[in-house]
Amino acid sequence: MHMSRRLASVSATALLLALAPAAHAGCGLGDLDGNGTVDGADLGMLLASWGRGGAGDLDANGTIDGADLGIMLASWGPTTLECGGFPPQWISGAPNCSTEPPIQVHWYNENLAILRQSLCTNFEGPFIMLLFGQDKVLMMDTGAGNISLAPKVQEVVADWLADHEQDSIELVVAHTHGHGDHVAGNAQFVNLPNTVLVGNSQTAVKTFFGITNWPDQIVEYDLGGRIVDIIPIPGHQSAHIAVYDRATGLLLTGDTLYPGRLYISSFAQYMDSIDRLVAFTADKPVCWVLGTHIEMSNTPGDDFPVGSISHPDEHPLQLTKAHLLELQAAIHAMAEAPHYEVHDDFIIFPLGGAAGGARSDAGGAASGGEDDARCCARPQNMFELGRLMAQ
Ligand SMILES: [Zn+2]
Repeated sequence: MHMSRRLASVSATALLLALAPAAHAGCGLGDLDGNGTVDGADLGMLLASWGRGGAGDLDANGTIDGADLGIMLASWGPTTLECGGFPPQWISGAPNCSTEPPIQVHWYNENLAILRQSLCTNFEGPFIMLLFGQDKVLMMDTGAGNISLAPKVQEVVADWLADHEQDSIELVVAHTHGHGDHVAGNAQFVNLPNTVLVGNSQTAVKTFFGITNWPDQIVEYDLGGRIVDIIPIPGHQSAHIAVYDRATGLLLTGDTLYPGRLYISSFAQYMDSIDRLVAFTADKPVCWVLGTHIEMSNTPGDDFPVGSISHPDEHPLQLTKAHLLELQAAIHAMAEAPHYEVHDDFIIFPLGGAAGGARSDAGGAASGGEDDARCCARPQNMFELGRLMAQ
């Protein structure tokens, strides 16, 4: 009796371990334990959950089956992705405004820097990514303003050059999308040496990356030994793009998917864009999905008040492919009647019209009339939001 109870307890623990996502889930498709190689240990984890769900459910269809085994065997051996890490906690605003820096610099790995703008300087607290190739460094976004960004970026670039014993590199300043809190620092990059500033209109984005069939065409952009894929994903804003980095398996999703309020200005376009992202990544390893804000706490479904400059117990920045699939399912389920919907790690927030916007940056000049509006219930303020949720 005593013995069998102990055995039952041990196998329950083993089951839980097998079901728990690995720390680097998805970093190399099939590398469930994140040790850099798809090997027998990963196969053991997959087989331990056969017929159920869990980390081994590589195609995310809810069941670990022959298809998942096939995917794992196809990626057998060392993974080719460059992995990286995140700080245990990002700078998170008040009450630390007198001590935290206006910009936090975090090296995800030696060729990718993530900058976080302090919430104390702007409540949007956006993230900015710098991806280094041999010839070019691609910077996504220029922040929400009120910070001295260009000198900090030049420091980051100089550090990278010193580490790589290289004289120069071209800085390409592009944007996830054209909202104010992602382009406010643009003026600081005009006329800087060795710097190209991409415009933030849809036309400028298409022209620069050579996209002739927006939004269906996905194009490559070569940074020199490092190719990224540029995926048009309008819906939050008309010039929105995602970036898939083949070197790291990171999918940069801007304001389209992040741990926070996913404001949707064109629901039809947004749904197509999410479908496009899912289709594109179906046969690719996605280490992490990285957006450009954090508005959730670590309590499931809990977001910080709009405009808050204090984010205690902030949710991690990184999401996973499973979140993308969760978003896709939810968007399709509400397709006929888009509505506000709270999930554990994000909130779906359709807006009522092209001109509307709950956040300060929405409806900016760049969004123009390119978004086709689809009306849906939209809370105008926190009081209405509560009333809608109570219905
Ligand atoms: Zn935005």
